[in-house]
Amino acid sequence: MKDRFGRTISYLRISVTDRCNLRCLYCMPVQGISLVQHKDILRYEEIVRLVRIAAGLGFRKFRLTGGEPLVRKGIIGLVGTLTRNCPPRNNTENHGTSPRNSVPFRGKSHSLAMTTNGVLLSEYARPLKTAGLGRINVSLDTLDRAKYQRITGFDAFDRVMAGIRKARAVGFEPLKINVVAMRGINDDEVGDFVRLAREGFEVRFIELMPFRVRAEGWSDRFISGAQIREKIAQTFHIRRTDEGPAAGPARMYRAEDWPGRIGFIEPISSRFCSACNRLRLTADGFLKPCLLSDVEVDLKTPLRTGATDEDIAGLFRETILEKPRGHHLKEHKIPVRTMAQVGG
Ligand code: SAM
Ligand code: SF4
Repeated sequence: MKDRFGRTISYLRISVTDRCNLRCLYCMPVQGISLVQHKDILRYEEIVRLVRIAAGLGFRKFRLTGGEPLVRKGIIGLVGTLTRNCPPRNNTENHGTSPRNSVPFRGKSHSLAMTTNGVLLSEYARPLKTAGLGRINVSLDTLDRAKYQRITGFDAFDRVMAGIRKARAVGFEPLKINVVAMRGINDDEVGDFVRLAREGFEVRFIELMPFRVRAEGWSDRFISGAQIREKIAQTFHIRRTDEGPAAGPARMYRAEDWPGRIGFIEPISSRFCSACNRLRLTADGFLKPCLLSDVEVDLKTPLRTGATDEDIAGLFRETILEKPRGHHLKEHKIPVRTMAQVGG
């Protein structure tokens, strides 16, 4: 499906929960955010139905995110149901009774990925692989254990590293590491992250965005993608690359001749909006045309009051037409929902 600006929209990011087992300093206040009530969180069978409708409209790529997706009970069953690798299980997290022919994925034309903080990954990596998950991105902003605790509020660095190792061991390759770059916090580690490319990791530096809960002090912490590249170029030879899978809004580079790529996601400094191909579904069932705008379309109420698939497909079309040409973060229009609520 095309939006008003000719962009093909084929990627749906699905937040399965607004809960999280970390408190990253740019994302969640220490006391947490006000959580959506359990009854208002989309049930798995509702997510499966929406994915099926989206796939029917031409969406090809789906990503499970959060909050932290691995803290939601029954997540493996959802992955299996979406990819058809295993039937829905009958437990308290009802995956619905959707017949096999209503399962959304068809052959290799659809892909399912997940973004996780990795804390529970050593336990979940193998079941996720078996259930048919295609790719994993792990968010990790430092390679230093003590600093990890300062950034996330928890002493979980060793667990994340164990999760990363396990994910690779069970075949999630290339594993992508997302690093939110912060001046004075982790910009001294840029070179250490780049060296991970030598081991085949794909490292993606993300510019810090000012969400409402943690917007104060943002400009002091912000470091642009170009500034990170300058730092990297002091030590490594880097060159732009178009090889490898399409990178969406990321600018991709190679360092030396190492197998892993280095990506830069620059929502602030170079407004990646012209390459944006996505919609986002919040955990409480709102479809958002853009992470950084407050426009949202309620899907949960129609889902729960008898709307037909065609009605819901109409709401997807409507949301696609609401996609703005670009966001307005530079003008300090900060979105109301945080990243954890929308799904990063
Ligand atoms: N909990 C999972 C995780 O951290 O990977 C998934 C959800 S998290 C909201 C998704 C991504 O959003 C993470 O890579 C995180 O670093 C990023 N993120 C959160 N707040 C951000 C901010 N203010 N600026 C840039 N990236 C942010
Ligand atoms: Fe949780 Fe991810 Fe937000 Fe960190 S970035 S607090 S792990 S949702």
